[in-house]
Amino acid sequence: MENIAPIFIDGKWDKIKTEYFNKVYNPASEEVISMTPICGKKEVERAVESSLKAFKIWSKFSYVKRAEILFNYRELIKTNKEKIAKIISLENGKTLPEARGDIQRGFEVVDFACGILHLAKGESLSEIAPNIDSRTNLEPLGVCAGISPFNFPAMVPMWMFPIAIACGNSFILKPSEKVPLTAIKLAELFQEAGLPDGVLNIIHGGKEVVDSLCIHPNISAISFVGSSHIAKHVYTLGAKHGKRVQAGGAAKNALVVMPDAEPKSTMNSIMSSAFGCAGQRCMAGSLLVGVGNNIDSLKETLINRSNKLVVGDPIKNNSTEMGPVIDGNSKERIINIIDELDGTGAKVIRDGREINNTKGFFVGPTLVDNVDFNQPIFSQEIFGPVLSILNPKDIEETVEVLNKLNYGNGATIFTSSGNTARFFSENIKCGMVGINVGVPAPMSIYPFTGWNDSFYGDLHMQGKEGVQFYTRQKVILSRWDNFYEYKSGW
Ligand code: NAD
Repeated sequence: MENIAPIFIDGKWDKIKTEYFNKVYNPASEEVISMTPICGKKEVERAVESSLKAFKIWSKFSYVKRAEILFNYRELIKTNKEKIAKIISLENGKTLPEARGDIQRGFEVVDFACGILHLAKGESLSEIAPNIDSRTNLEPLGVCAGISPFNFPAMVPMWMFPIAIACGNSFILKPSEKVPLTAIKLAELFQEAGLPDGVLNIIHGGKEVVDSLCIHPNISAISFVGSSHIAKHVYTLGAKHGKRVQAGGAAKNALVVMPDAEPKSTMNSIMSSAFGCAGQRCMAGSLLVGVGNNIDSLKETLINRSNKLVVGDPIKNNSTEMGPVIDGNSKERIINIIDELDGTGAKVIRDGREINNTKGFFVGPTLVDNVDFNQPIFSQEIFGPVLSILNPKDIEETVEVLNKLNYGNGATIFTSSGNTARFFSENIKCGMVGINVGVPAPMSIYPFTGWNDSFYGDLHMQGKEGVQFYTRQKVILSRWDNFYEYKSGW
C-alpha cells in the first residue's frame, strides 16, 4: 500500500507490515487519504530502545547546542507554515486560517523552548552555611512519551515534545491515528534541523500502544491529551507504574454574556468560539449563558449569523467559515445527541442536522434553547458545533450553576464592568478565564491549566510548568572550608 503513514524510529522512516490500519479521511470529501498502521508492543520496544540510546547522547549535549537545533527547527517551521497548515486542513477538516492558528500555537512553544538556557537555569546560594554553597540543577528524566488527540494535530503534540527535548529528554510521540500526517511533517523538519536520530520517535496505534507506553519500565513520563475517561485511565496506569503523568481531558466551556456586553465584539467572539474548528476545540464555548433579560435579541442575532455561516469544504472553497467534523462516527454521535433532546425540555432553535452537502462529515451550526443544569446536554461534552443556551437571572446564579460542571477548562465573561468581571474570575471554578476573550487559551509562556475532570496530574503543559514536568531537581551542596588548602599564586 502506497499511502501508509510511516513510523519514525532511530531517524528512519518505516512502512510497517500489519493487518490492522485506521483509515485517514479528508473529512470534507470522505476520501481516504492515508492509512495509519496500528502498531503493537514490538514497535513500542523498538522506539524505547532507540530513545534510550539517544538519551545517553542527547542529555550530554550542551544547552547551547540544543538551543541551536531548536532555533533551526523554529526557522524551518516558519518557512513551512503554509505547507503544514495545508496538511492539517486536509486531514482534520479545519479551515486554512484555523489550521494556520494550530501551527502558529505550536510554533510559539518552539519559540519558548529556544529559551531553554534561561528556563533550565537552577538556583544557587553561596554561604548557605559557613563555607557551604548550594545550587540546584534541573536534569532531564530520560525517555518521555506523548499521546495526542485529533483536534489539534500540530499544537497539542508541540505542547509536549519541543519542551521535553529542549530539556534533554528523548521523546516517543503517538499522534492520533486519525491525523498522523501532520506529526510526520513535524518530525521530518526536526530531523532536517539537525536533531540526532532517536531523540524523537513516532509510532502509531491505539489502546495497545498507549497501555504499553504507560507500563514500560524504561519510560519516565507520559503526557496525554484526549477525552477524560482515557485521560484518567492513562493517569492511573502510568502513575501505578511509577511515572510522572500529565493528562488533559474533555471540557464544557461557558460564554457568559452580561446585559452590558459590547454587542458586536461579543457576537464575533461567540460565533468563533462555538463554531470555530466545527466546535472541536477543548476550549470551544458550548454553553451560552445570557444573563438577565436581553436574551431574546442575543438569540435572534445568533440565529441570523448561524444561518449565514459558510459551511463547506475548506480546501475547495476558501470562503468556507466552518469545515466538517472529523469522521462519520463523530457526525452520527452529534446528531444522536440532538435527536435525544426531544422531551427533555430543551428546544432546537437552529438545526444543524439539515445540511445540503452530500459528501463530507458536515453538521451545521446548532442552537439549543431552554437548557438547564438538570439536562444531560448541560454537562456532556458534544465536541461539535452545538451551542446550548441558558438564561439565569444574575451573575451569582450564573456562577452557582456553572460551578456544578465536573469539567474545568475555560469560562468567559463578556461585560463592560470591571467589577462584574472580577467577581466572575474570582469565583468561577475552572483553570482558564476569559474577560471579553472567546477562547481564553493561554500562550506558550503560560501553562494550559485545566481543573477537575479536564486535567489529571500536577504539572500542566506549556510554560514553566512544562519545564518542571520534564525535569527533576538535584540539589548540590559543597563545602570548601579551611581543611582544604587554598592555593594562591598559580
Ligand atoms: P481520544 O480520547 O479518543 O483519543 C486521544 C488519544 O488517545 C489518541 O491518540 C487515541 O489513539 C488514544 N486512545 C483512544 N482510545 C484509547 C484507549 N481505549 N486507551 C488508550 N488510548 C486510547 O480523544 P480525541 O477524540 O482524539 O480528541 C478529542 C478529546 O480531546 C476531547 O474530549 C477534547 O476535549 C480533548 N482535548 C483536550 C485538551 C485539553 O487540553 N484538555 C486539548 C485538546 C483536546
